[in-house]
Amino acid sequence: MKPLYAEVIVDIAHANVDRSFSYRIPAALQERLQIGDEVRVPFGSGNRTRSGYVVAISDHTAFAPEAVKEIAGIAENRESIEHRQMELAFWMHEHYGCTIFRALNCVLPVKNKVRPKQKRRLLLRADEAKAKALLAKYREKHMPAKARVLQYLMEVQEADLDVLMKELKVSMPSVTALVEEGAAELSESEVNRITLPERAAKQPVISLSEEQQAAVKAILQRRQQKDLRPSLIYGITGSGKTELYMELIARVLEEGKQAIVLIPEIALTYQTVSRFVARFGTQVSMLNSRMSAGERYDQFERAKRGAIRVMIGPRSALFTPFPDLGLVVIDEEHEATYKNENQPRYHARETAQKLCEMCGAMLVLGSATPSLETFYAAEQSKVVLYRLTKRVNDAHLPEVLVADMRKELERGNRTMFSDALHTALAETLARKEQAMLFINRRGYSGFVSCRSCGTALKCPHCDVSLSLHQDNTLRCHYCGYSVRMVQRCPVCGSGYIGAFKAGTQQIVKSLGQLFPEAKVVRMDYDTTKNKGEYETILKTFADHDADIMVGTQMIVKGHDFPKVTLMGILAADASLFVPDFRAAERSFELLTQAAGRAGRAERPGKVVIQTYQPEHYAVRYAAKQDYEGFYREEMQYRRLLGYPPASHLMVIMTAAKNQEEAKQTAERIKTQAAALCGGETMILGPSPASIEKLKDYYRQMIYIRKQEKRALETLRDRIDHWLKESELLSNCMVQYDIDPVQLQ
Ligand code: ADP
Ligand code: ZN
Ligand code: ZN
Repeated sequence: MKPLYAEVIVDIAHANVDRSFSYRIPAALQERLQIGDEVRVPFGSGNRTRSGYVVAISDHTAFAPEAVKEIAGIAENRESIEHRQMELAFWMHEHYGCTIFRALNCVLPVKNKVRPKQKRRLLLRADEAKAKALLAKYREKHMPAKARVLQYLMEVQEADLDVLMKELKVSMPSVTALVEEGAAELSESEVNRITLPERAAKQPVISLSEEQQAAVKAILQRRQQKDLRPSLIYGITGSGKTELYMELIARVLEEGKQAIVLIPEIALTYQTVSRFVARFGTQVSMLNSRMSAGERYDQFERAKRGAIRVMIGPRSALFTPFPDLGLVVIDEEHEATYKNENQPRYHARETAQKLCEMCGAMLVLGSATPSLETFYAAEQSKVVLYRLTKRVNDAHLPEVLVADMRKELERGNRTMFSDALHTALAETLARKEQAMLFINRRGYSGFVSCRSCGTALKCPHCDVSLSLHQDNTLRCHYCGYSVRMVQRCPVCGSGYIGAFKAGTQQIVKSLGQLFPEAKVVRMDYDTTKNKGEYETILKTFADHDADIMVGTQMIVKGHDFPKVTLMGILAADASLFVPDFRAAERSFELLTQAAGRAGRAERPGKVVIQTYQPEHYAVRYAAKQDYEGFYREEMQYRRLLGYPPASHLMVIMTAAKNQEEAKQTAERIKTQAAALCGGETMILGPSPASIEKLKDYYRQMIYIRKQEKRALETLRDRIDHWLKESELLSNCMVQYDIDPVQLQ
């Protein structure tokens, strides 16, 4: 019998996974051992037994056979969390064509070697009366340590735990006792702190409407029948989707299971999370991308131990190692951020579906503007659709006005605001209500160009326009390049050079001229770069310390400000011109979501959409808030041109510092792909990416369409295999993306 060898990844829980080790497979295991199995292996010079996972099996090894150690045994437990995570990683590896190591690093939490010490804070929890009573009790019962801490907390409200214990000379048991008696509360990290204030204000559970209840019942029933098809909750903003999720979570928790809630990072705010905390208390935790690897690791450990039972976070929260996952919710499932733009290029929706199948868990998607993929799947009964048709509390849909900016110009209005918007702003301010102005910056930036020769100033490293900032620098938003603003056109020498398109800064400035008494806050990439800035702006606005909030897409997602009765949308059509087959879908989404921000409580809302293309169907359907009308028209276009979800599309991108190299590699890939596919398949390109040069790399694209996704995956693997053999890759990178959510 041939000796067989296995590649084993050792100790996945404790290190950054980046390599495997060769082991001989003992005869007894040769028939049984499979990729993904957990094994025990001797490791290191001391041959200590460690656990590992088999990632490959072959009949040869690159090492001298006598130097290869033997696998000591196989672990019988295939139910472990680690085993499940492995299986998911393997699925990602196959499905998204990344290496197994990449997939594992994505799925497994990475334990930092040097973990920053957790700062713990002690907070006063009891109200004044209770605190006083407890203090009296401690004094009476001669508990001086507890009394000291409580008295101190009553003065300062909260304190660093280490400092406090040292200063007051108390030990941990006293602190723990205070916590147990409800006098104080420990917070382990920054992240938990932001959710704390709501904990006291536990709200009564809302009773669900008939529609909500019917959906909950049907979803639970389907699970009982082992029907694990995903559910789509389709309902406008304010129709009660979040309440419905919470009801499902409550049911799952009652059964002793756990839940994951995915929310687009941008909507992952104090407001959203605190609603969950108010209902489920300390069982809830959150992840965000600003956390360090160590913080994430701790969160995952707590989830594993059962200290956390509901995890809220962006797409990576999907990998929370819950022992008995019962539910995954993906809110705003249409969001492009659910797709990872780095290797592995996984989509959280697909990955969640796989995970839920593995765990027997429910997958619930929610949106007011579902992705075409999901709505199409619902039409084909691969996803089960539940509609929430009413806004809770009979809140009315806003009145939508479309302002044709071409007509404004004809009438001689050269400002950024149409008459309709100007009037509406004045009225809103007069009523002491709030307004939001959303500038659609997707697809363009406040670029600088020459009025004489038309030259636009571009980044020397990336093929994108530079934008002008208030400090008089020109900056590239892709690579961060910055340079002082020029006085003369570098091409023709003309002095007529400047920024002509309005950005958030210009809007704020002209608001200042038009409504000098109004307080304005600005929310965009620049004002939210630092930790906490985003929350501060939101809070200022929520507290009505500002009348108008001006911002980019960031302000559109998931906020609920009851006093906002006007939403102005500037440059509504900018995003229609992005060279991407999803341009109309994205524009429709943005406009609809933006419109949904106005008038969420009892006050009626108004929306003004400013556009140069009032006749475009994305604008028309958004103005009518008619998703299904838009869906039908957009699907016709996708069918006609063979775009997803009507068909499947693989994008292959080559990138090289040398323009020719990128082109030639792309040409050769195309030839090879054509040979592999036969005549039937439509292959387009290569053509330069819409931003051809990015961070000094030139990029070429090839587009391949097929009816079957599986066929594209096979093609990708064959091309990749051929590329590796052909050594074309030395100076050129190649990336594959099947059914991209955003074209490069
Ligand atoms: P969505 O997630 O669809 O935007 P939410 O769940 O946030 O909707 O609900 C919008 C508002 O209506 C929230 O303030 C919520 O508390 C309230 N709400 C939701 N369902 C009900 C209900 N059945 N009864 C009363 N209020 C509700
Ligand atoms: Zn010029
Ligand atoms: Zn750049």
